[in-house]
Amino acid sequence: MSEFSIIENFFSVLGKQRNDVIKSVGDDAALVDTSNTQSLAISVDTLIEGVHFPESTNPYDIGWKSLAVNLSDMAAMAAEPRWITLALTLPKKDDNWLLEFSRGFSDLAELYNVQLIGGDTTRGTLSISVQIIGSIPETGALRRDQAQVGDSIYVTGFLGDAALGLKSLHETLPLSDTEKQKLLEKLNRPRPKVTESLKLASYINAAIDISDGLSADLSHILKASQVAGLVDVNSVPVSRSYRWCNQFPQSFDLALCGGDDYELCFTVAKDNEEKLMTEAEKLALRCTKIGEITEGAGLTFMNGKNEYSVQQKAFDHF
Ligand code: ADP
Ligand code: MG
Repeated sequence: MSEFSIIENFFSVLGKQRNDVIKSVGDDAALVDTSNTQSLAISVDTLIEGVHFPESTNPYDIGWKSLAVNLSDMAAMAAEPRWITLALTLPKKDDNWLLEFSRGFSDLAELYNVQLIGGDTTRGTLSISVQIIGSIPETGALRRDQAQVGDSIYVTGFLGDAALGLKSLHETLPLSDTEKQKLLEKLNRPRPKVTESLKLASYINAAIDISDGLSADLSHILKASQVAGLVDVNSVPVSRSYRWCNQFPQSFDLALCGGDDYELCFTVAKDNEEKLMTEAEKLALRCTKIGEITEGAGLTFMNGKNEYSVQQKAFDHF
């Protein structure tokens, strides 16, 4: 099978076929119609085997996740995702792998209304780069550098479940198979909060998606906005399985530092909190207030009256 038959068989028609795509896969570049938007949000992410997913991950989940991490960046910016390109490096041609990978990728693309419009296919160590392009609605983009002193800090969903799922692959956890399955689903099939973020954006000052862990990601907001953050660890939302597996005294480490949750962390002015919560309820989105933006610099975790110091370090490639 040649490079071209791989493209033809698996990637020439993938995702929602959008009517703002003028020329998709098959020419030297894709052409898109941007006439109904003022600004675009553009981002790229690479997934490497053994780094971003364990070697045991099935290709469907790899396909799903390599798109999900990009959709999550769109959610962080409150952008409406539209188009994606895919640069795929494969060690060998493996029809079954390609079929499953493209199925996972495609299922999520359909779900989020994005179309694959181009890419590149090469041979080498398995690596998947996805570029995503979204448009910014009139309400404007969300950014990391707009947190204000006095804002409340919120997160969506539960934190730490994906990291716990990863842990369950190497350690025996005191959980049922169904519970473990649910954690692995969080790890392998994240559902980025794209529509939710678009709906909530007008109440939010600063936002980021939680990919490297709350501690690291919230710190990016604080640094960019030149403010400090105070978070009460007891208010950080964790699941029942999480509570069961993580015991005193470092029971919050995984929720604060574990990656791969793809939830959102954002700050909200006091005046907007009620409106935000009303909207979140309509969306059936769990939004939890975990702390406050203060003057100064850096992130402090409190456990009641005592400072909580995280033992686990956030992931860093270098
Ligand atoms: P060129 O040599 O002109 O760069 P390629 O041979 O790399 O073109 O690609 C041919 C066409 O197939 C292009 O439209 C390109 O965007 C598309 N393409 C290549 N690989 C992929 C892929 N993995 N997913 C989607 N489209 C792809
Ligand atoms: Mg090329």
